[in-house]
Amino acid sequence: MAELIDGKALAKEVRAEVKSRADDFRATHNRAPGLHVVLVGDDPASQVYVRNKERAAAKAGIEGRVHRLPAETSEADLLALIFELNGDDHIDGILVQLPLPDHLHDQTIVDAIDPAKDVDGLHPFNAGLLVVGRKGLRPCTPSGCMRMLEHVGCDPKGKRALVLGRSTLVGKPIALMLLEKHATVTIAHSRTEDLAERVRESDIVVAAVGRANLVKGDWVRDGAVVIDVGINRLDDGTLTGDVDFEGAKDRAAHITPVPGGVGPMTIAMLLSNTVDAAEARIM
Ligand code: NAP
Repeated sequence: MAELIDGKALAKEVRAEVKSRADDFRATHNRAPGLHVVLVGDDPASQVYVRNKERAAAKAGIEGRVHRLPAETSEADLLALIFELNGDDHIDGILVQLPLPDHLHDQTIVDAIDPAKDVDGLHPFNAGLLVVGRKGLRPCTPSGCMRMLEHVGCDPKGKRALVLGRSTLVGKPIALMLLEKHATVTIAHSRTEDLAERVRESDIVVAAVGRANLVKGDWVRDGAVVIDVGINRLDDGTLTGDVDFEGAKDRAAHITPVPGGVGPMTIAMLLSNTVDAAEARIM
């Protein structure tokens, strides 16, 4: 029977560490680390995510501000705001809530953020630092997954790790982070054949696809560590991951629940990145 990896409890621990570092920063530099979030339009899910980030930042001693812009904001106006935030010395982190409305190009906007303030870790410069194995701001969800592995004492070194999904946001960065920790990494995607076989041979499985119960419980190897990043809403309104939790929990050694697993870690790592950015900018 698997031990649950409690994302809520671990995120609380990370937030407490961040609060202590933010308090030290404030005491030393006479200002709190600053995080500015830009929200364009009125997508209900994005509004909830941004509100949660705003609250979590305030509790962690980070000075947060949300710029709420109308859905019809032009690219020029949005870029002008980003450049203004880039130039403000009291702002350490800038996050543009994605996805943006259709007339705006996510990548153009992310590219405009100063990489030193890119607390989402999505700027190509930071992605490049990750590829070459250098220190930089790294995407929050993959960092949260790595922290979870560390927490349960799972050292990826020499293990066979399978990442399902190859997005820039989750799949690719987590695969690189596992590789950095010396796992033998396989990346599966929509064209992968024999997915069941790939799962069966893996000691670590990270599922980041967005398909409910794609990974069947009996595919999971005995003693595997399963990190389920997927968030899927079922017809009855409940949330579920990409892994058949009930089937997999009898075989895995450790498994994350959905909800209450990776989700809470994402915001905690965003706060951690903000303090990292603040400290790095002062040096
Ligand atoms: P995405 O950009 O849509 O990428 C999904 C990936 O899954 C793609 O690489 C796709 O392959 C692959 N895929 C699709 N069908 C597949 C199949 N049958 N077998 C294997 N791979 C398949 O999604 P994302 O942004 O990475 O997010 C993935 C999931 O994580 C979503 O449920 C999202 O809501 C969740 N998420 C959670 C958090 C959190 O904080 N917990 C944060 C971010 C995302 P191709 O490349 O071949 O199309």
